[in-house]
Amino acid sequence: MSVFNSPSFDSHELVAFKNDPRSGLRAIVAIHNTALGPALGGCRMFPYASPELAVEDVLRLSRGMSYKSALAGLPLGGGKAVIIGDPATMKSRSLLLAMGDFIEGLNGQYITAEDSGTSVADLKIIGERTAYVSGIMDGSQFGGDPSPYTAQGVFYGIKAAMAFRHNENSLQGVRVAVQGAGSVGRYLTKLLIAAGAEVFIADVNAANLSLAQTMGAIPVPVADVLGLAVDVLAPCAMGAVIDEQTVGLINAGIVAGAANNQLAMPIQGEQLRQRGILYAPDFVINAGGIIDVYYQRAEDSSNSSAAHVERIGDTLQEIFARAEKTGVATAQIAEQLAEEIFLPPVKTAAA
Ligand code: NAD
Repeated sequence: MSVFNSPSFDSHELVAFKNDPRSGLRAIVAIHNTALGPALGGCRMFPYASPELAVEDVLRLSRGMSYKSALAGLPLGGGKAVIIGDPATMKSRSLLLAMGDFIEGLNGQYITAEDSGTSVADLKIIGERTAYVSGIMDGSQFGGDPSPYTAQGVFYGIKAAMAFRHNENSLQGVRVAVQGAGSVGRYLTKLLIAAGAEVFIADVNAANLSLAQTMGAIPVPVADVLGLAVDVLAPCAMGAVIDEQTVGLINAGIVAGAANNQLAMPIQGEQLRQRGILYAPDFVINAGGIIDVYYQRAEDSSNSSAAHVERIGDTLQEIFARAEKTGVATAQIAEQLAEEIFLPPVKTAAA
């Protein structure tokens, strides 16, 4: 398969490949769109079964970042990096330094950050070779970790959805099922419980589940969480959780969580709409992390970042209202809105 023919290529501006036999680095940087500013997106390390799968993943993720940053109101484009390899066995200082050289060679068109398989510590090593790294600010409240901001954004998103659907501004007594008690899931649990919500939580990892329990969340079996009769389902584990099989199981009026790419296929957005379930598009509600990463780069992770994250709720309200008015799925409306922001208008013959 050629890169240009990939279904996720979608007019990428640049795709760069790096092979460094000395360190074992094999990496790809994809830059989807820089109309609004330099492309910012995480650096993922994963043992892809083939280079083709790595290409497909980096293109899909990079495209998603253009949409996420546009709707988050950031002066950033969309990009992403992947390193092919097992982070548990193949990550080394020399490999990370070589990644830094690779990013530096792109002259600031792409700015990297942490993602699955890379940590703040890894990003600091990459940052020894390039200035184009974000999310490593020591002085920031959480030492560069974007998860608390992502959780905060999801919390505002849940509030916006409750206000839109039920005209309800309080989360007191609201029942929320959280799938995944990882970094974001646990921060979200803390916020929800402090706001008076009742939180049910499931995780395949017993240690993470018990940490959430100590915060007051009620554990439920992994197999039951999607079908729980609750007000809000918050997927905070993995992608493609809403597919042809699971879309019919959901027993919540609202789906609003942090996981990336929650819909296996776009049609699931329409199926949720037809079932009367209000879906908060993932790339809108989970933008808190990228917003904070942007402010860290601007060396201002204080009040402005928090106020900016709060605006996620306003953006969602606008999407919900447009979707209701037009009878179109919220995910599709969100994509249209983003494209209105980052794509240049098509010139007509008369123009
Ligand atoms: P994490 O790895 O810390 O937590 C994920 C949790 O989900 C883990 O505890 C894992 O055991 C659990 N899990 C995996 N499979 C599961 C299953 N089948 N059922 C129940 N639990 C399961 O990740 P995170 O940083 O908390 O991120 C959660 C999700 O949000 C991911 O999809 C991530 O891509 C997305 N996201 C995170 C951020 C961020 O700032 N961390 C930003 C945007 C999007």
